Amino acid sequence: MSKLLPGREVPLGKYTFVQRLLPQRERRTVGAWCFLDHFGPQSVINMPGMQVPPHPHMGLQTVTWLLEGEVLHRDSVGSLQTIHPGQLNLMTAGHGIAHSEESPAEHPPSLHGLQLWVALPAAAKDGTARFDHHENLPRTTFDGGAATVVMGEFGGLTSPALTFSPLVGVDLLLDPGASIELPLRPDFEYAMVVMAGAVSVDGTPVEPHSLLYLGENLHSSRVQGGARLFLIGGEPFAEELVMWWNFVGRSHEDIAEARAAWGDGERSERFGTVHGYAGAPLPAPALPTIRLAPRGRAPVTTL
Ligand code: MN
Repeated sequence: MSKLLPGREVPLGKYTFVQRLLPQRERRTVGAWCFLDHFGPQSVINMPGMQVPPHPHMGLQTVTWLLEGEVLHRDSVGSLQTIHPGQLNLMTAGHGIAHSEESPAEHPPSLHGLQLWVALPAAAKDGTARFDHHENLPRTTFDGGAATVVMGEFGGLTSPALTFSPLVGVDLLLDPGASIELPLRPDFEYAMVVMAGAVSVDGTPVEPHSLLYLGENLHSSRVQGGARLFLIGGEPFAEELVMWWNFVGRSHEDIAEARAAWGDGERSERFGTVHGYAGAPLPAPALPTIRLAPRGRAPVTTL
């Protein structure tokens, strides 16, 4: 039932590359998690590092999680927040927000982390934009490692982060030679990314740059090895989505409207203005000539 899905390298901004692990052709969402980029570890000594100019989002939350380095977040609701390893930056776009992300001028030598998106369910997709920074997240140690609960509930600990559907995101540190029984919920589906090291999960070897889709109806998984992992999961997301550029919508029209509302990003009433970023906003790319079709969590298989 589990399946290893290799990521692909894509550019992010002008100076960095990331491994894109979600969405994939055969797995568009895991719970409400709809996007997962793993960046680094990358040396950013005497380099600009991450430089992502102001761009809009709608219909989703962005989750930024660092293992090394620093990222400075600015957004159109007035936030200015540097994030450090072990902290959570959570931006809830709702109907619309814009943000930029950059390595500060003076930054640590290495950059390593994840950016994920969570699709907002219909009831929350047009909500008010907001930004939350969580300095301290619940953390527990166990025989063989430690877990930090970034989103949702895990092992009896609950993250203070705002969620809109039943889901979980957990950072797991496994000591070399560890063998743990990972407790899972049968009503959730799960996937895992290895950020450093290597593990085997119920016998399947997993290394960085792939997403292991674990499946649903699971009560536990046996994870062996020494690694830093991130586990995502949630109730399978039933709504069909249209994902295009930085937008999550329900229809071609949703996307076309958002694209028009951003334009070249210089003045957008809907998405607002990001102040202080040294550079022009990202203009929206051209819409494809075909209509964008809503898609389910995985392709419908035909026999
Ligand atoms: Mn973004």
